Amino acid sequence: MKGYIHSIETLGLVDGPGIRVVIFMQGCDKRCKFCHNPDTWKCNVGNTMTPKEVLDFVLKYKNYFDNNGGVTFSGGEPLLQKEFLLETLKLLKDNGIHTCIDTAGVIGSDEILDYVDLVLFDIKALEANKYKDLVGTNIKENIDFLDLCQKKNNKLWIRQVIIPTINDNISYIKQLGDFIKKLNNVEKVELLPYHTKAIPKYKRLGINYPLDGIEDMDINECQKLNNLLLDYINDKNT
Ligand code: SF4
Repeated sequence: MKGYIHSIETLGLVDGPGIRVVIFMQGCDKRCKFCHNPDTWKCNVGNTMTPKEVLDFVLKYKNYFDNNGGVTFSGGEPLLQKEFLLETLKLLKDNGIHTCIDTAGVIGSDEILDYVDLVLFDIKALEANKYKDLVGTNIKENIDFLDLCQKKNNKLWIRQVIIPTINDNISYIKQLGDFIKKLNNVEKVELLPYHTKAIPKYKRLGINYPLDGIEDMDINECQKLNNLLLDYINDKNT
């Protein structure tokens, strides 16, 4: 069994706790307008690795993980390669390595959720029509996956990209806060500032850039919204 891997980052600090090996998997069925990895979209292309090859690679970095580091599967959408992912998660668990998946949610992932230690769940939009417009697929799969995480008591980090003129407003932040308040097992909430660094990639790939004209999200403004969101979730001053 082999998985299609786009690339591997060995000392990742932002995709989960501690120092992590981040495995960017190839393939995604969504088309988020703000995606900065359009080069991961195509399925079944690129380098392949077996679960054992991934384990052997990761073991070389185990000393850096300390107590809370480990491996994060990102992409692309890692849950599109379920069999490979499941087998690899099992091997990593047997070797005492902490695992995360960074996902927008794919149905039929029950067994994977039994083995993964932490889910980095990407919220894209909260309303069906806005989700469809921004992501290109149906919000139901996203919500069904989150419901499954709740049933299985998976630990969650919630992430949302903040995009100027689309969702960088207080009313959306409160809507997001109300949504998150109803969830269990949320360990962290992160708003990520939208950036335009991927535009050259789109040009190289010959894909029209869907958010042409929208500027980078100001990092400080994004941090302010993040603080507001956390205060709102914790019922402070809002
Ligand atoms: S789910 Fe992730 S990889 Fe797929 S299009 Fe959206 S941002 Fe890009």
